[in-house]
Amino acid sequence: MIKKIKGIVIKEIDYKDTSKIIEVITQNGIYSIIAKGAKNVKNSNFKGTNFLSYGEFCIYENKSISTLKSVDLINSFKNTLKDIVKISASTYLVKLCIQVYKQNMNYEIFDLLLSALIKIDNEINALGVVNIVEIKLLKYLGLKLNLDNCAICGSKNIVYLSLDYSGYLCSNCTNAKMDIKVLKLFKMYDMIDLNKLDKINVSKDVMIKIDKFIYEYYEKYTGIYLQSKKLFNELMR
Ligand SMILES: [Zn+2]
Repeated sequence: MIKKIKGIVIKEIDYKDTSKIIEVITQNGIYSIIAKGAKNVKNSNFKGTNFLSYGEFCIYENKSISTLKSVDLINSFKNTLKDIVKISASTYLVKLCIQVYKQNMNYEIFDLLLSALIKIDNEINALGVVNIVEIKLLKYLGLKLNLDNCAICGSKNIVYLSLDYSGYLCSNCTNAKMDIKVLKLFKMYDMIDLNKLDKINVSKDVMIKIDKFIYEYYEKYTGIYLQSKKLFNELMR
């Protein structure tokens, strides 16, 4: 059966001399597709079957593995492919989103990934975009941070974000303190519509504090360990 799917190439594997097998993430799952002859520059499917390519794929659908008929490239993320920081941020987000998607196949995860890749390609601060996605993804893992009020008593007078309580704490419930700017940004990152974001006005040291918390939170609760995050962090810090 011929089917059209819109998605992002998240993996390429060489297959025979001139072909490759690609994996494409879509709103409705991940497809494995044989792209015959796609390694050949002259082949019409050469463009559109590379890592990160976002396109509309026309496939002969099959349960285990489909076959590519044609692809219309929508976005190749040209700026990203030329920049080591952007490519490492995007690679990390692809890997992270796949892990979360495998646990909770919610179409919003695909939408979030696509928006993030577009923003990174459009010169929005990569670390900021990465952290926004990481915070938003927690919901799909059942690990959403409590960013409304104190996680213990419900007070609004928040002074700290706790790894142990997965959320804000107030001055009655802890002696620890965190910069209010950092605290508010967690909420803002969680609420913001990534599609509408055109600038992230946050200093580098504040960003790194946020990143450090998120890293520790993922490490403590998610069981997701990604080498690509380490690589990205080495480039950013
Ligand atoms: Zn409290």
